[in-house]
Amino acid sequence: MASKAGDGDTLPVGVLALQGDFVDHEAALQRHGLCTRQVRTVADLNALGGLVLPGGESTTMLKLLDVDGLWEPLGAVLRSGLPVFATCAGMILLAEQVENPVQRSYALLPITVVRNGYGRQFHSGTFALNSAVLPAGTSGTFIRAPRITRVGMGCDVLASRGDDPVLVQKGPIMAACFHPELQPGSNPVVARFVAAVRKHAMLPAGGA
Ligand code: GLN
Repeated sequence: MASKAGDGDTLPVGVLALQGDFVDHEAALQRHGLCTRQVRTVADLNALGGLVLPGGESTTMLKLLDVDGLWEPLGAVLRSGLPVFATCAGMILLAEQVENPVQRSYALLPITVVRNGYGRQFHSGTFALNSAVLPAGTSGTFIRAPRITRVGMGCDVLASRGDDPVLVQKGPIMAACFHPELQPGSNPVVARFVAAVRKHAMLPAGGA
């Protein structure tokens, strides 16, 4: 799949494009000046500057990852130290423990998530976030979102909704319960990931 747009100063950011809102992620990254590549095959995982796991339905993504032979190769990239950004279903794929129901995951973030933990569609919407690292007034759009019920060692909470952590980071992996890619214009959460991609691109080859 050919790369699209961006100013070309980093390798393209791969956006897992099996299902979900991958097109919105691509548009958001391109608005922030990066080029993107839809990831559907093992070959699409070569020479990436970062990786995004989009929102959607995590159960469907799990099935398609198996069907397309991507489970292991994608796991290797996720563990490689590349900057990773995951939203919603993507975050569920990375959580150590998934409930409602219990399902398989890459277990790269020491968190427990409850799928649809804020209720179904009716409870979706845009809510204020509390954060020490995001500008005041930053909000998050939640759609049948997972709820984080445990954050383990080594995982930083970057933003909360009420008492609930909703944006977390461990090393090069950042994950959100909400959808910054759906908000128009520039977004501080997308910008944080873009900065990580640019920083990673300046490291010596093989650096993480
Ligand atoms: N409810 C979905 C799941 O459990 C996630 C929703 C989303 O990605 N917006 O996979």
